Amino acid sequence: MTRQILVTHALPYANGPLHLGHMLEAVQTDVWVRFQRLRGHDCLFVCAEDTHGTPIMIRAQQQGQTPEQLIQASAAEHLRDYQQLLIAHDQFHSTHSEENRQLCAELYARLQAGGYIARRSVRQAYDEQAKMFLPDRYVRGTCPRCKSADQYGDSCEVCGSTYAPAELIDPVSTLSNTPPVWRESEHLFFKLGAFEAMLRDWLASGSLQGAVRAKLDEWFTAGLQDWDISRDAPYFGFEIPDAPGKYFYVWFDAPIGYIASFMALRARRGLDFDHYWTSETATELYHFIGKDISYFHTLFWPAVLYGAGLRRPTGVCVHGFLTINGQKMSKTRGTFITARRYLDCLPPEPLRYYFAAKLSGGIEDIDLSLDDFIARTNSDLVGKLVNIASRCAGFIERGGGRLSPALPDPELYGQFAAAGESIAALYEQREYGAAMREIMNLADRANQYIDRHKPWTLAKDPARAAEVRAIATQGINLFRALMIYLAPVLPLMAEAAGRFLGSPLNAWSGAQTPLQGSALQPYQALANRLDPLIVASLVAPEEPSAPTKAAAAPSGTIKIDEFARVELRVAKVLAASLVEGSDKLLQLTLDVGDGQRNVFSGIRAHYSPEQLTGRLVIVVANLEPRKMRFGVSAGMVLCASGEDGLFLLAPDSGAQAGMKVS
Ligand SMILES: [Zn+2]
Repeated sequence: MTRQILVTHALPYANGPLHLGHMLEAVQTDVWVRFQRLRGHDCLFVCAEDTHGTPIMIRAQQQGQTPEQLIQASAAEHLRDYQQLLIAHDQFHSTHSEENRQLCAELYARLQAGGYIARRSVRQAYDEQAKMFLPDRYVRGTCPRCKSADQYGDSCEVCGSTYAPAELIDPVSTLSNTPPVWRESEHLFFKLGAFEAMLRDWLASGSLQGAVRAKLDEWFTAGLQDWDISRDAPYFGFEIPDAPGKYFYVWFDAPIGYIASFMALRARRGLDFDHYWTSETATELYHFIGKDISYFHTLFWPAVLYGAGLRRPTGVCVHGFLTINGQKMSKTRGTFITARRYLDCLPPEPLRYYFAAKLSGGIEDIDLSLDDFIARTNSDLVGKLVNIASRCAGFIERGGGRLSPALPDPELYGQFAAAGESIAALYEQREYGAAMREIMNLADRANQYIDRHKPWTLAKDPARAAEVRAIATQGINLFRALMIYLAPVLPLMAEAAGRFLGSPLNAWSGAQTPLQGSALQPYQALANRLDPLIVASLVAPEEPSAPTKAAAAPSGTIKIDEFARVELRVAKVLAASLVEGSDKLLQLTLDVGDGQRNVFSGIRAHYSPEQLTGRLVIVVANLEPRKMRFGVSAGMVLCASGEDGLFLLAPDSGAQAGMKVS
């Protein structure tokens, strides 16, 4: 039976770039969607840019833009990142859309008609200079508990206590640095408590993981609070229809953005709204999210939907946080890796595979260890999986380019085909790590089969050509079954493998029937080893430290042969230019005698490109090339530096580009 499924992942917020944590969630969701499609189900995948709220408004002001300009640019960047990561959204929309405006008004009207909206006055910090109410995070001051200075208005990072902004000692607005005043304003509230019985019932339906249910039980015990869904002008969002000067809080309109994105897709595909949003049985609805926003998705969102007469999610799939090399992502440690940085340096599929290998259906945190990332890619994808195809392809090609008409070991193939159901069950439960282990165990068995039959030895005897071709045919078919099972994770590789096999890998059931007697296309490498140097550059500082920072004093002397290993050469600057996105670097094209080199040098503050073109400099010519965000730097230009500035070294007149310096 064909299932009809609608899937979302959390909406990326428009105030910053995507990072590896966003990529983890997008990959988890995309793998599940691609798996369902491969199984023949009708699986729609929608997402949207999350655009509203005070941070967007303030940031746009600071950048001299309108919020609309800011969110448009951000959405374009986010979409580009998702596409390059091979995320197969059917629709990537925006919460700042006409569809969403209408839906927010409609759902609000229904909630109000149901008696689920209350109004009452709230006392809140107000910045008289910026002329606006301040969200808690925009008030800072001394912690009322431990007296630590400069803490947020809602919680103290030193002692961990939470409090109201009014309790801060000497509070100031972060917008104007003036003390806020306290003003009353009427706000609108969603009566969450009215839905407690419904929510308990929904939880019992098995829509959530055990650990998430346990957290919800804590919230039930603490009592469900009314939820403030309004904010005062100025605010970037949708004005509330019957409350002039009041706007829907961003967290009210953001999940409704899931429906708005569906509406945009509906307009293109002619989908039935009721089928997806009013009936709880005909279709399935899943939200993939991080555990930090489970409160919104497991309490407010199902309650809002139910209160408005719409269906509740079939499931909310919660994942843990991503750590890098065992630690929280941190800008100061250089482990805050943006999607752009990763995608500029490396292909998407190794990361998709690594995330899949680490993901489970639970909410435990997931660690990206860069050494492990290199080892797994090189051993699993290149050493095991692709190795099967590359070992066998040549034998088929030399044997005329066609597979044998029958498999020599149909029983072994049958075991690979039978594994399809247990692997599918693991994908369905989001136990991707277990699925990857099962697939790699099969890959080991395929390689063992080839090792045992040694086609390379048999191939020396022309009389055994048919036998060699049959062994290779077996190997190619085992590879094909594995590639089908990995297609949700490695869509580009599966596509390339389909071209090589002369038959697309577009159905899970395809693994049940081996290819026999058909022609193969010439084999091309399907995956490459990861370069540890490039992977390491993900967490390296983006720019070399400026030469003005003197290196630590040398500890002791070096031997003459140690010095001789440094290859210094005279180089001529053929071209010099500014580097877009960097205020420290110049890009130099150098003639080093035996060819041209590209070198990035941190001398922009001291030299203009015009001053450099045509002059001679001294370079370290045998420095290991370094991959940077802007390109590869192959060498280092030498400078003298001190308190008075920075000075390029140059040879006396008569020296030529390429001469050795010693
Ligand atoms: Zn404190």
